[in-house]
Amino acid sequence: MKKIGFIGLGIMGKPMAKNLIDAGYELIVNDLNEESVKELVDYGAASLSTAKEIAENSEVIITMLPNSPHVKAVALGENGLIEGVKSGQVFIDMSSISPLVSQEVAAALLEKGVEMLDAPVSGGQEGAEAGTVAFMVGGNEKVFKANKAILEVMGGSVTLVGDIGAGETTKLVNQIIVGINIAAVAEGLSFGKKAGVDPEKIFNAIRGGLAGSQCMEDKAPRMLAGNYDPGFKMKLHVKDLTNTFETSRELHTYMPLAAQVMEMMQKLISDGHTEVDHGGLGLFYEKLNNI
Ligand code: NAD
Repeated sequence: MKKIGFIGLGIMGKPMAKNLIDAGYELIVNDLNEESVKELVDYGAASLSTAKEIAENSEVIITMLPNSPHVKAVALGENGLIEGVKSGQVFIDMSSISPLVSQEVAAALLEKGVEMLDAPVSGGQEGAEAGTVAFMVGGNEKVFKANKAILEVMGGSVTLVGDIGAGETTKLVNQIIVGINIAAVAEGLSFGKKAGVDPEKIFNAIRGGLAGSQCMEDKAPRMLAGNYDPGFKMKLHVKDLTNTFETSRELHTYMPLAAQVMEMMQKLISDGHTEVDHGGLGLFYEKLNNI
């Protein structure tokens, strides 16, 4: 079994790393948070203090970091992976970042003979713990096939969608559609409530029809209960939409609905709702419609 270096032991990375250990992989971990590192070492991992050392001591390197600057720093920065890698190694980045940055990091590592897969996920903390996240992967097909078994330990579905950057692009598509859907559910229910109809009855009446969706099933009950605890934090969704607009500016894509959703999310966060779930768009309509 391949020796794996794993960097980024947060909400998602920690359980995913544990699943790899449970499956019998030898893991060397790294994180800025010493407590998370200790938890993994107690679970059976080894640890090293820089990304460079992780690269020097593993065959496959995995990262699960917050955003593009973190991945760039870990991969290409001082004491980064690029200073320790050898030709033939594989780098798998599971973070949700800009596809443009994935392509930039992949090009730099390829000069050292290292292939990269961009492999962001959907499925959240529960999926990470259960090993059932959905992977959307970009990169070389041969490299994908050779490393698919590692991803299958952590994921319920593992799909190659195209060349490097395609995984991140697919994740952004997911976030565009989910964000707009949540806003649609919130707007519809707030209209019904303002018109004097019980929103719970509305939900039950329409959930089986064309308006129904996985998004509605997940978010409507929480909106009805006024429960906006995360879940998937709205500020992470804003991060993903920011990466979307960075790419869409390059492509000159028209995206009015995603732009509107982004405005609503920004407004809620700037009003102090910094830790709410992305379903907190319900709160936006409650406030504006006085319901
Ligand atoms: P998190 O903030 O909980 O964890 C990130 C970890 O990276 C932290 O432990 C942090 O200490 C570590 N880190 C940051 N910079 C580092 C560095 N330079 N060196 C080493 N470690 C460093 O984030 P998360 O919720 O685990 O999310 C990770 C990625 O997965 C994000 O891109 C997020 O958008 C994506 N994602 C999250 C969810 C979710 O529900 N939380 C779902 C799908 C995808």
